[in-house]
Amino acid sequence: KHYALQRSTRAWLRREPGEVLRAVDDVSLAVLPGRTLGVVGETGSGKSTLGRLVLRLERPSAGQVLLDGQDVASGGGAMSHRLRRDVQVVLQDPYTSLNPHETVGGALAEVLKVTGSVPAAGRPARVAELLDQVGFPSGWAGRKPGQLSGGGRQRVSIARALAVGPRLLVADEPVSALDVSVQAQVLNLFQRLQSELGLAYLFITHDLAVLERIADDVAVLYLGKVVEQGPAEALFASPAHPYTQALLAAAPKLGRRRSTTSAVAGELPNPITPPSGCTFHPRCPAAMAVCREVVPLTTTTATGQRVACHLYPGSTPGTEPPVRPPS
Ligand code: SF4
Ligand code: MG
Repeated sequence: KHYALQRSTRAWLRREPGEVLRAVDDVSLAVLPGRTLGVVGETGSGKSTLGRLVLRLERPSAGQVLLDGQDVASGGGAMSHRLRRDVQVVLQDPYTSLNPHETVGGALAEVLKVTGSVPAAGRPARVAELLDQVGFPSGWAGRKPGQLSGGGRQRVSIARALAVGPRLLVADEPVSALDVSVQAQVLNLFQRLQSELGLAYLFITHDLAVLERIADDVAVLYLGKVVEQGPAEALFASPAHPYTQALLAAAPKLGRRRSTTSAVAGELPNPITPPSGCTFHPRCPAAMAVCREVVPLTTTTATGQRVACHLYPGSTPGTEPPVRPPS
């Protein structure tokens, strides 16, 4: 099922100074403190698998996921402890992960107890602090999940993720189940928490409009491979890969009505039997003969993105990028 991503995982690179997370592909993905790496792709692109690899819920068949330069797959119990302390997850539907019979305050106190992060006497104050951090009215600590809106439940799940003092949040479609106006509020909350706490985010979504709002860097996944990656500003201003261009054309700006046209023409092929050459070629409006035969290499565009597409000089094996004249 997760073959595509695993197939593309490759041995990985050096650690950059200060980096929290480095994950694995032809292009290296890194998350720094206080920064957001957005990962976008369709269902089946492997984006959730990437999150699960980071959380060690899946193991890469090759390559590495490094947390502070250490391979998360190694280190056994000590690494498990580290992962629980340093990396937390926020999922799309908090309802399924919240106990319907437990009050909000009780659930948070339970996390503090189970993780041993705060002694009993300090828990009520810490619960109040967590609720305050996520903008949750303190008087609501006695409420149960069923008495909250979707946005309220997501605030609770963010508070729960923050309880152990993580450095990295893996947020997998955290606003996808919410109304557009509530999405904006929760994204604001993510941004405020990031600047207050210096958190690193791996923010996974199918919706580029969400990343335009929150990401510092963006990686576009297609069938388990990063087809384009770069600083968010450059990628949104001049998307290089035809797939990114199609996603962007279909992505409504946050707060506007969602377009009813389908995101990208055609269906995502079966990742077990991906198309030859560039795996996007059956859906690509710019496909050329070479695209069916040859896997494009990753090259750097003039605007600074890393892109794997034969339209760009240096991406076709055996050809060289043009020599730039000295300026
Ligand atoms: Fe389209 Fe060819 Fe580029 Fe693939 S390599 S995205 S098929 S132009
Ligand atoms: Mg940011």
